[in-house]
Amino acid sequence: MPPYLGESHESVIRFLTKAEKILALYKDPFEKGIILQQVDAIEKGNTAAKAAIDIALHDLTGKLQNKPCYTFWNADRSKTPFSFFTIGMDSEEMIRQKVTEGEQFHFLKIKLSGENDKSIIETIRSVSNKPIAVDVNQGWKDKHQALDMMEWLAEKNTLFVEQPLAKEKVDDMAWLTERSPLPTIADESVQRLTDLEKIKNVFSGINIKLMKCTGMHEASKMILRARELDLKILIGCMSETSCAIAAASHLSPLVDWADLDGAELIKNDLFRGTALINGKMMPSDLPGIGVEKIGKN
Ligand code: MG
Repeated sequence: MPPYLGESHESVIRFLTKAEKILALYKDPFEKGIILQQVDAIEKGNTAAKAAIDIALHDLTGKLQNKPCYTFWNADRSKTPFSFFTIGMDSEEMIRQKVTEGEQFHFLKIKLSGENDKSIIETIRSVSNKPIAVDVNQGWKDKHQALDMMEWLAEKNTLFVEQPLAKEKVDDMAWLTERSPLPTIADESVQRLTDLEKIKNVFSGINIKLMKCTGMHEASKMILRARELDLKILIGCMSETSCAIAAASHLSPLVDWADLDGAELIKNDLFRGTALINGKMMPSDLPGIGVEKIGKN
């Protein structure tokens, strides 16, 4: 469970027990829109619990129609973008080792915090020329220093910088986006569809995660609205099993970048659902989200 969104195993089980009463009122899973609206209205928050129901409904309706979920949005599977492999903050030696572990990926995502940032990037660059994205997780304190850093990163084959400043610093963020040579992507600053209007002119794009936004239904709406607002789109993930990663992969042909390595970073994955082909986390062609259970709970 993503702790910063306040969910736990207990809270999810409590929410799903409440949701059962709502779900029992419906006999037709194709009434997804109404069902998910009712589930969303049960209680605020609980976005990962809501995503579990959303993903199950998408999987079910796909299976009943014998169609993979990406066809729901007429997505072209051949447009699946390269996926990122995440390199956390670590010793030089560990960073080099992680780069090797991510060998099959074509893009790397580097976590920075404001400390030793340049030496981390230089360590990466000593072993890899792959395009990188940088995730600062709100770690830079000053907009001028952030701009200097972004200008420096722009010379280092960087694709974008995610959440450089604290989410409260809206004016500083707009200032930075206006001057930055690189796209700025909102992660902590954007959670759901209703947050998108305030992102325009503050960031260049958004990071959509199913566990933040209640699932595939709302994520697909966010993609449409973000395109209308001319925002770049990254689809990301938390630490997740291949079940959630597979669900996100079905939306990935509709976005600019995919950061779907969450299941590569865990040891207790219970599912198989995506294949990393040529650096891309490809959605399955099986009906629904196309996952298969491989482990025991
Ligand atoms: Mg992030």
